[in-house]
Amino acid sequence: ERQALGRLRRLAARLSSGEKLQLQANLELPAELPLIAQSGAAGIGLLRTEFLFMNAQAMPDVDAQAAIYSEIVTAMAGDVTTIRVVDWGGEKHSEALDRAGLRGEGESVNPALGMRGLRLLLRHPAVLESQFAAILKASSAGPVRVMLPMVTTVPELREARDIYHRVARRLRRKGVRLDDNLPPLGIMVETPAAALMGDALAQEAEFMAIGTNDLTMYTLAVDRASAEVASLYHPLHPAVLRLIQTVTEAALRQYRPISICGEIAGDPRAVPLLVGLGLRSFSMTASAVPRVKRAVRAVSFEDCRRLAHRVMEAPDVAEVTSLVDAFAAGT
Ligand code: PEP
Ligand code: MG
Repeated sequence: ERQALGRLRRLAARLSSGEKLQLQANLELPAELPLIAQSGAAGIGLLRTEFLFMNAQAMPDVDAQAAIYSEIVTAMAGDVTTIRVVDWGGEKHSEALDRAGLRGEGESVNPALGMRGLRLLLRHPAVLESQFAAILKASSAGPVRVMLPMVTTVPELREARDIYHRVARRLRRKGVRLDDNLPPLGIMVETPAAALMGDALAQEAEFMAIGTNDLTMYTLAVDRASAEVASLYHPLHPAVLRLIQTVTEAALRQYRPISICGEIAGDPRAVPLLVGLGLRSFSMTASAVPRVKRAVRAVSFEDCRRLAHRVMEAPDVAEVTSLVDAFAAGT
């Protein structure tokens, strides 16, 4: 089977009815880069930058960050790299970021609902500025996109965009050559608020990426890290699927690129359903790419659409799961 999956690397990610999909990789550590090359992924849909700060005593400066981003962008050899600025806060903790003043509110009763992600970056913009500057510098090495985590409102996006443009102007003044078109600035959709406001956000974000790991947590009020409620955590819950459908349709209406990069994007059983809901771009852990490709090559768009229709009438997760499983067994 290993060999069969290996051969898939050279085959296109197409439905049996011909529609082309984009299968990309999520990257957490630069050490995973060789896996991406082997997987046949078409670029990086989510580069999590938390690793830069994880065990660091001090903030890596702009040039140190730019060197790492450039190395990754160069390794992608012309395929796009989507770099997400740091999603810190909540229960995640970093000494380097604490020293930079980027401290999540430890005293918050619900850290996941407190100072986290983009909120935290806007509160302490020096870290955000350094990441923007480093990403802009690295953009001379190849195609790049910049992504904001944990967006809940349009004004947050505007504020981040203003900072992005200010950083670009400052770099240009210093003589750094940047393309007239800056790398696109997009958002993660991982809160119900962002999904429900998809129309408004799609007008201003240059691309969108659905993060179902957090979206599931916030929609179902189930902590993704708590073993006690793990049995209630279901990315295929009808409530989560409705939000995915809502924001996907909003993006498509405005011709905004939309992708999905939570864990379910790497689940071969879930992907045909997501295709049926309108998604064409999936970013997943590199090792999942061949299996997802095999699954999508076996199904037609019409099959996926019919599956999605039936699933969207299901009242609970058990029924969704049985429809999805029956579909997978029949292909
Ligand atoms: C998500 O929330 O689905 C996501 C991709 O981001 P992370 O897992 O890094 O929170
Ligand atoms: Mg997330």
